[in-house]
Amino acid sequence: MYVPAENRYDVMQYRRSGRSGLKLPLVSLGLWHNFGGVDVLENGRAMVRRAFDLGITHFDLANNYGPPAGSAEENFGKIMKLDFHHLRHEVVISTKAGYWMWNGPYGEWGSRKYLISSLDQSLKRMGLDYVDIFYSHRPDPDTPFEETMSALDYTVRSGRAMYVGLSNYNAEQTREAAAILRDLGTPCLIHQPIYNMFNRWVEDELLEVLDVFGIGTIPFSPLAQGLLTDKYLNGIPEDSRAASEHSPFLDKDDVDKTIDQVRELNKIAQERGQTLAQMAVAWLWRFPVITSVLIGASKVRQIEDIVGAMNNANFSEDELNRIDAILKG
Ligand code: NDP
Repeated sequence: MYVPAENRYDVMQYRRSGRSGLKLPLVSLGLWHNFGGVDVLENGRAMVRRAFDLGITHFDLANNYGPPAGSAEENFGKIMKLDFHHLRHEVVISTKAGYWMWNGPYGEWGSRKYLISSLDQSLKRMGLDYVDIFYSHRPDPDTPFEETMSALDYTVRSGRAMYVGLSNYNAEQTREAAAILRDLGTPCLIHQPIYNMFNRWVEDELLEVLDVFGIGTIPFSPLAQGLLTDKYLNGIPEDSRAASEHSPFLDKDDVDKTIDQVRELNKIAQERGQTLAQMAVAWLWRFPVITSVLIGASKVRQIEDIVGAMNNANFSEDELNRIDAILKG
């Protein structure tokens, strides 16, 4: 039987998600890539175990993660059964619905029909009675927010979820959705936007809205899918996401477009005595409204590297200015 490291809660720091009672680790692990049916289960299992040993209590999924869609939840269910069945109360599990999952008019977006059917399927795939956080994965322009939010509220009232969250909603949509959820008595726990050094859209308005509503923030793709690391400095390694046939959202062009900035950023990271991946994650923690940073990983050692970012999470004014200057090009 898997026995987790005894010191796991001393290694990690936890932040409260907005004005809720739930604390999340500074680093959370997402299972979008590397946990699907095309991947090696034992590698995914080793990553989840090592993550938990380091105090990472929060694992993020979605109905469609794989490939094939649904297989990451199936594999996570296997890992839960093998290693974590006795630890369910110590683990926070998130899933989402919003993107395409099955054919026909009820297989995507934000209807009550889709969201609740999808969550029931997710629970079955993972072998769980409930998830801790259920997200609307994207706003639906054609379904009234009242319907989507009341479906989220229902997932909590029916015992399928403990908390609800929003992902990919802009500031205005978040304001509207969060107000409805608050009125329903199921306040939005957390928002999951893309946020990294190369994509700072949340800084314009969203972070302020989240702060006002007391909603936590968990940035996804904090390393810009691996661009904000030292892995592409000498070309594209075969075992990287940019080279993988299973990752349509990252390719050589993305590497070519960013590599000059990455080299400059890497110099600052080296001066700080940390890896670029560590610096990119620590940089996101600089705002208190950021609850946790949601990384992906293909190897155990990447998770260990990221957790090491906590050893140097402070930035001088000068460092922040130099980083801004590099990012502005
Ligand atoms: P990241 O930006 O953290 O990229 C992860 C990739 O970066 C890894 O697969 C690995 O790439 C590389 N990497 C990680 N750590 C290191 C390291 N220390 N050194 C070198 N390379 C490293 O995040 P993701 O894009 O994977 O997204 C994270 C999670 O966010 C997802 O799993 C999912 O849960 C969530 N997400 C949510 C979305 C939404 O719409 N709500 C959309 C996308 C993601 P390699 O494979 O090349 O080794």
